[in-house]
Order: sequence, then structure tokens, then C-alpha cells
Amino acid sequence: MSARIVLLLPEVLGTYGDAGNAAVLATRLRWRGIDAAVHTVGWDDAVPEGGDVYVLGGGEDAAQLLAVDRLRDSTGLRRALDRGAPTLAVCAGLQILGRSFTVADGTRVTGLEVLDVETVPGRGARRIGDVTADPLLPGLTDPLVGFENHGGVTTLGADAAPLARVRGNGAGNGTGDRLEGAVGGSVVGTYVHGPVLARNPALADLLLTRALGALPPLEVPEGLPSSTARRLGARFPGAFTAADRRRAGA
Ligand code: GLN
Repeated sequence: MSARIVLLLPEVLGTYGDAGNAAVLATRLRWRGIDAAVHTVGWDDAVPEGGDVYVLGGGEDAAQLLAVDRLRDSTGLRRALDRGAPTLAVCAGLQILGRSFTVADGTRVTGLEVLDVETVPGRGARRIGDVTADPLLPGLTDPLVGFENHGGVTTLGADAAPLARVRGNGAGNGTGDRLEGAVGGSVVGTYVHGPVLARNPALADLLLTRALGALPPLEVPEGLPSSTARRLGARFPGAFTAADRRRAGA
């Protein structure tokens, strides 16, 4: 049977390319010889309760308000979360899984109350830019990298632990304590886009291991096409290895 990565509502929670997180999870399983499929839950689809990993992405305030109402009524998602299915929630996704969030126009809604976090609009400019953060979640060692783009500021309650601590520039949760993301139970929430799992494959493998148990080590296959080498390899041949150029057909 194929491992099932459930991608929730990319039509509304897909603004920042976060659907790529589901592709990364499935691809890293396939590279290990494990059959995997992405099950995309569209607006009119029921959420399956038997998925292996669930993925929510970011979105604008209006999209996020639609998504929270749609997901609040989902028995499938509730059952999956109740049984502790590993779940990645990015930005709007993180806010949606919290206790409540308030968007920029002042609308406050109850979240799915899975993560012990509260989000309110931050003061001043949106938090936009690259982030590097040192992981605080056991099992992660490499710095978490990616970019953030959010107006909301998220405070963690006693039942949520931070995912990472921001270095240098970057807001993370935006509360001024440099904390980034929130972890509670089987949910890992982050403000980091990229998609975050493409930029931070160790986090992808952590979620997969939680879902499926120990995984065989992964050798990234030779011969992966490099889109940058394909675009620029002929113009800047010295910038790429011969193998890069060969793979890219440049
Ligand atoms: N609308 C939310 C905010 O601005 C989430 C943004 C996002 O998902 N990038 O805080």
C-alpha cells in the first residue's frame, strides 16, 4: 500500500508554494523505494482520516478565513489529528490550528484548537524576508532556513514548544523573543516558506519517521535535473560542475 501524504486545500492555502511540501515528502519516500502518493484535498473534497502525513500551507487573510471554516467541519481531519497523525502547518496553517487568530481587519475566529497558540495582528510592517533559525525540536540539527511573509504575531501557550530560535534578521513568531514556530503533539507549525521541506529536508524526514517509523538512509539520486544549471549552464559554464551541466543538458 502506498504511503499517503494529504495536502489540504491548496486552492486557498497555496499562495506561497507550500504545496511543494507534500511533493517533497512523497519524493523522499519514493527515493527510498517506498511507494507514496499525494492526496490533494480540494475545496469540495472530504479529508481522508487515514493519511500518513497532513500538510497545510499559507494564505492571505481572506483565504485563511475560508479555510478555517471549511476545515473546522471536517470529521476526517479531526479524527486524523485526534489519532496523532503527523501534520505540518505553515503560516496561515499554523494560525488555523491554534486556539484563535485575529486577522488584519480585526476579525477574530476560533481555530481548530490543536496547537496551544494565539495569533493577533502585529504592529508595524508585515514580517517579510529570509529567516535562519537554530532548531529547538529534538531530532533537528541543521539551521532551519526559508522566508517568512506574515502580518500575524503568534504567542505560544504552555502546551506548545517553539520549533526554532531565529538568528540575526527575521521575526519568527513575531513576539520579540525570537521564537519560531510551534510544536504540540503531532503538529509542527512554522512561519517558514520555501517550501520549508525542500529547504530543510531533515524536517521532512522527521515527519516521515514519525509517521512510518525508521526509514532507510537516503542517497539523493545522481542525475537530478538542476533547473539553474539548465538555465544558466551555457552562459556561466565555470559556475557548474560538468556533472551539473550534463544532467541539465546544458
Ligand atoms: N494571513 C496570515 C498573516 O498575514 C498568514 C500569511 C501567510 O500564510 N503567509 O499573518
